Amino acid sequence: MDPDTTLEAARERIAACEDASALKDLERELIGKKGIVAAMLAEIPKLPPDERKTHGQKANALKQSIAQAIAERRADFEASKLDAARRADDFDPTLPPPRAPRGSLHPITQVTRELEDLFLSMGYEVLDGPEVELDHYNFEALNITKDHPARDSQDTFYCDEVGRLVLRTHTSPVQVRAMENREPPFRVIAPGRVFRQETTDASHDHTFYQMEGLVVGKDISVAHLIGAMKTLLRGIFGRDLDVRLRPGHFPFVEPGFELDARCPFCLSTGKQGCSVCKKTTWIELLPCGLVHPNVLRSGGIDPEQWSGFAFGLGLSRLVMLRHNIDDVRHLLDGDVRFLEQF
Ligand SMILES: [Zn+2]
Repeated sequence: MDPDTTLEAARERIAACEDASALKDLERELIGKKGIVAAMLAEIPKLPPDERKTHGQKANALKQSIAQAIAERRADFEASKLDAARRADDFDPTLPPPRAPRGSLHPITQVTRELEDLFLSMGYEVLDGPEVELDHYNFEALNITKDHPARDSQDTFYCDEVGRLVLRTHTSPVQVRAMENREPPFRVIAPGRVFRQETTDASHDHTFYQMEGLVVGKDISVAHLIGAMKTLLRGIFGRDLDVRLRPGHFPFVEPGFELDARCPFCLSTGKQGCSVCKKTTWIELLPCGLVHPNVLRSGGIDPEQWSGFAFGLGLSRLVMLRHNIDDVRHLLDGDVRFLEQF
C-alpha cells in the first residue's frame, strides 16, 4: 500500500463520517492495533533492507496525519453539538446560573448581634473572656468559696488535676476581669459560651450561651437595673413589657433578684396563660442584682465609693422564647433542617 494514496483515501473517509461513533470505528480501522497502518508496519521485515527505513518513516508519518485529521473532525462534532444545544429553544444564555445553597446566621448569633447593637447604643462596651477559666475568676472572686453550695448547682468540667482550670459555668467571670482592667464608671456586656456538668434534657444542655452585663458607677440603684432591663426587653420583643422582681439568692449580688417579664405570647394573643409561661402570664427571664461588695473588692474597686448592678441573661433561653423552640438541644446539634428555618 502506498502511504500517500492511503492518506488521501483516509481523509475522504474521515470527512464522510456523520457522527462521533462512526469516527471512532474508522479510527480503529485505520490506526488501531489491527488497523491498516499497523499492517504496513508489520510488512517491514519482509522488505529489502534498504527500503525498510523509508517505509517505516512513511508509515509513522501517515499514522500521525490520520490521528490529527481524526482529532480535528472530532472537535467539529463537539462544536456543532454545543451549537445545537445553544440553538435549542430552551437555552437562554442571559439567564443567571442556578444559585448555590447559602447558609444563614445561627439564631444565637442573630440575637447576640442584635443585643450587642442595642447595648452599644446605650454606651456599653462588648467584652470577651476565656472559656477555659481559672477557678479564681469563675468561683472565688464571685464570692463562691470552695465549700459554697452554689458549686453543686454549677458543677463544671475540670481541666487539670488540681481543679485550678475549669470550663466557665457562666459569663460572670468577665465581670471581675473587666473590673480589674477599668476605672469606674463603666458599662460592659459579655456574651459567650458557658458549660455545665449537666444531665441533658429539653431544657438543660452541657453547653449554652449567656450574656453578662455589668454597670459600675456612683449611686447605681435597682431603678437603673430595671430601666436597663426594660430597654433590653423592648429591643428583643419589640414592645414594652412589664417586669417584676422576686428576691433570689446569687452569691455575687446583694440584693439579688429573679427578673420576670410579662409573657409576650399571652399579650399578643390576649390569652391569660399559655404553654410558654406555664399558665402564669410571667416568664422568668434573668437573675440580676446589685454587685456584692466582696465582688467589687475582688475586682479592685472600693465599694464605699462605687456601686453597680449585674445581670446574667440566658441567650439560649431567650432564643427559645423568641422562636418558641421546645428543646434547647436543637440549638447545638447542627441539624440543617432545624437551622434552615432561621
Ligand atoms: Zn404566656
